Amino acid sequence: MTVSVWQADDSQPIREVDLLVIGGGIVGCTAAYFAQQAGREVLITEMRDLALGASGRNAGFMITGPDTYYHHAIEKYGHAVTREVWAISEQTHRYWRGFAGRNQVPIRECGSLLLAESAHEARDLELAARALNADRIEVEYLTRDPLQRGFHGAIRQPWDGAVHPVKLTEAVFTESGAALVTNNEVYRIEQTKPGVVMVYSRLFRFQARQVMICTNAYAALLEPYFLGKVIPTRAQVLATAPLKQSVLDTCGYSDYGYMYYRETFDGRLLLGGARNQFKALENDTHDDRVTDPVQRALEAYLKQRFPDVDAPVERRWAGIMGFSVDGLPLVGTLPDKPDVGFAVGFTGHGLALGAATAERAVDRLLKGTHAGAVDASRLG
Ligand SMILES: Cc1cc2nc3c(=O)[nH]c(=O)nc-3n(C[C@H](O)[C@H](O)[C@H](O)COP(=O)(O)OP(=O)(O)OC[C@H]3O[C@@H](n4cnc5c(N)ncnc54)[C@H](O)[C@@H]3O)c2cc1C
Repeated sequence: MTVSVWQADDSQPIREVDLLVIGGGIVGCTAAYFAQQAGREVLITEMRDLALGASGRNAGFMITGPDTYYHHAIEKYGHAVTREVWAISEQTHRYWRGFAGRNQVPIRECGSLLLAESAHEARDLELAARALNADRIEVEYLTRDPLQRGFHGAIRQPWDGAVHPVKLTEAVFTESGAALVTNNEVYRIEQTKPGVVMVYSRLFRFQARQVMICTNAYAALLEPYFLGKVIPTRAQVLATAPLKQSVLDTCGYSDYGYMYYRETFDGRLLLGGARNQFKALENDTHDDRVTDPVQRALEAYLKQRFPDVDAPVERRWAGIMGFSVDGLPLVGTLPDKPDVGFAVGFTGHGLALGAATAERAVDRLLKGTHAGAVDASRLG
């Protein structure tokens, strides 16, 4: 964001901070947690409020794995990176379960089904299952639709689950022990000398030893380094009124992840996706209003696959995800600001990859440790 001389004349009070995290989503809170564990004093600054970005608007799926089916990920990223991303995902889920367990966060150990919308997708799922099994990841490939809703086959991942994303973010924040300043957008970051970073925001000029950017979809609005590397991408969801009878006891994920559905903890059917049908509208936008074309597509899908649901649609919402240019999160420090780290570009998989990536981002900033598969140095 840019700011005029009328809006900010640099008269805001200076506030000294040890480590400043920008962004109060699940990733910012988790980065704050790991930094605090490493003995740092952390303050999070957030332009709206905790979990008001994608972290409070997602479907709450904890699905293990990368952004694409496993064998496709091997083709795209190579075998070693794909295995490492799987491990990051497993580690992330261990962390979420820990936070959830200690803080009474609703979590359902319901597993997930990756479902085939077509015979072609079924073939792909079978290949994915084979590649997973070859790596000793014991998924089950089902040739018949376990839901009996017209799918062509499925992979069952019994270890996956569904969580309440806002309560999870709040739990991580509480455990982080970090201070929080809300309603405080950051608009400029300057590294003045080693160990001194000036961060200009609405309420304060922060003087921080180190900074961690966790603004995901909004990263390029803050730092030009992220232009073309993190692309804001809208995702939309609807939720019915509470159902009289449950229709789904798992997380369903189909059309290569472009459609997803689960029941909420209060018994609504939540259904999201369809953005692949309207890419020109849904990509490269920070506008989090819902749109008619996507909502109509979601309703049509609801009728097609869940004709037994007669509860009306009661809520519709959208959120902005940060898609990285190659589909993997980006961890590193800014080339011209060595004390400014970042963990962004979660590509719609923050609950799959967020915690262990945030941990690596903190290690990268504090100790200079290479972040492996998620290290942004891969982009050159
Ligand atoms: C509809 C939808 C469904 C999804 N479903 C799933 C799912 O089921 N499973 C899954 O793994 N992922 C899912 N995702 C993706 C997931 O929500 C994200 O990957 C994750 O929330 C990213 O977390 P974050 O903290 O990086 O980003 P965010 O939660 O977006 O947090 C970034 C924060 O930075 C703040 N900010 C931005 N710029 C500034 C600034 N200049 N100054 C101060 N603060 C700033 C924002 O206000 C925001 O709160 C979904 C996303 C959406 C939108």
